[in-house]
Amino acid sequence: MSAAAQDELNVYQSAEARFETAAQKLGLEDGIYRYLKYPSKEITVYIPVNMDSGRVEVFTGYRVLHSTVRGPGKGGIRFAPDVSIDEVRALAAWMTWKCAVVNIPFGGAKGGVICDPSKLSKTELERITRRYTAELSEWFGPERDVPAPDIGTNEQTMAWVMDTYSMHTRQATTAVVTGKPLELGGSQGRKEATGRGVMMCCNNALAKLKMKREGCRVIIQGFGNVGSQAAMLMHAAGYKIIGVADIHGGLYNDKGFDVPKLVDWVYKQGKPLPDFPAGGDKQSAKDVLFHPTDILIPAATENQITTKNAGGVDCKILCEGANGPVTSHADEIIDKKGIFVVPDILGNAGGVTVSYFEWVQDRQGFFWRESEVNERLQDVMDQSFDQVVRAAESHGVSNRIAAYIVAIDRVARALKLRGIYA
Ligand code: NAD
Repeated sequence: MSAAAQDELNVYQSAEARFETAAQKLGLEDGIYRYLKYPSKEITVYIPVNMDSGRVEVFTGYRVLHSTVRGPGKGGIRFAPDVSIDEVRALAAWMTWKCAVVNIPFGGAKGGVICDPSKLSKTELERITRRYTAELSEWFGPERDVPAPDIGTNEQTMAWVMDTYSMHTRQATTAVVTGKPLELGGSQGRKEATGRGVMMCCNNALAKLKMKREGCRVIIQGFGNVGSQAAMLMHAAGYKIIGVADIHGGLYNDKGFDVPKLVDWVYKQGKPLPDFPAGGDKQSAKDVLFHPTDILIPAATENQITTKNAGGVDCKILCEGANGPVTSHADEIIDKKGIFVVPDILGNAGGVTVSYFEWVQDRQGFFWRESEVNERLQDVMDQSFDQVVRAAESHGVSNRIAAYIVAIDRVARALKLRGIYA
């Protein structure tokens, strides 16, 4: 791969490029610009683990705290073979901007462990999670840094994090982590929250473009927590899901999928998505992105749309469920096509918003009904969507840069009020 192509795929450089453009538009003071550009802390841990075979394996893990200017660090833990410090750094910065764009009182953080969960037993995953948490136990905490699930981790992982941390602090501390099971202080609606937030943004984008929801065609790449929940909710709301994909491949069906059956196939029966018998043309997980559609939702992983393939995107609305699915180099191509973009830091912010609700409920020891969670989420998503679209209009920039402008402005104001401790 050429150096230029490698640069394009460096997610940290993508995050920085957008930050720089927005900071310039905002006229951010030089000192504040430099303060916000760099993470506040980066920690690498080497995690020795007794494998089931009796061998000792050492895994590498990271936690990056980008900012605690507006509140404790907040961000998921990713378990994947291609985790890198640059990726975790970019994801941590995105969390700062995401929390600020939806105006919740958190900073940004992210963690990751280089491992392949599909090749590890449940007990090995538990040992990795517990040792990773133990190594970071002084840095985690409800007022310090609050992890959550991401690719390759789930409610069970969060339960292990909560238990390990609680054993170290000698008190049950549910608010140290979000995305937990309901039995351990999880929130109603958290599992669906990111997908629900994606749908709410799509509803708002449709209203903005004066398009009808009924029969509106949707393609979703990624069928994990975000993609499958978005598919279920949007199918139930009248959208037509015509394309789906996961790591095993893609399926396209212009008549639309029976999404509950597809979810049953993948999740209850544990079968590969592309083998779904109820119809659809098999193709690669990438190809599914390039069919004509009204809405395209990349909800898998980074760098799916690049300068090499952005010309082939054929949708009216691009709503990012994943973090960083479009490279910064490809932004211009997408913008020139007149596609209405809901950028990741807004599109997938439903998850962190309900994580915030979970943290609030844990700290109150008082839990809300699902309808209450969803109503509050709706308010946050509607207001944030509106602020981003208005900022895009007033600054004459894309929705993506507008979202950064809204976010950076909030963090910069908080920083000015706090001042720099010396
Ligand atoms: P997940 O592990 O539950 O699911 C990931 C899905 O993507 C799986 O279906 C997997 O098969 C598929 N996938 C992975 N690589 C792929 C590829 N190259 N091509 C096609 N499909 C591929 O993860 P998730 O929690 O759904 O997260 C998905 C994205 O959303 C990530 O970018 C994550 O950072 C972001 N996100 C997640 C949340 C959340 O609450 N879970 C919140 C905000 C953002």
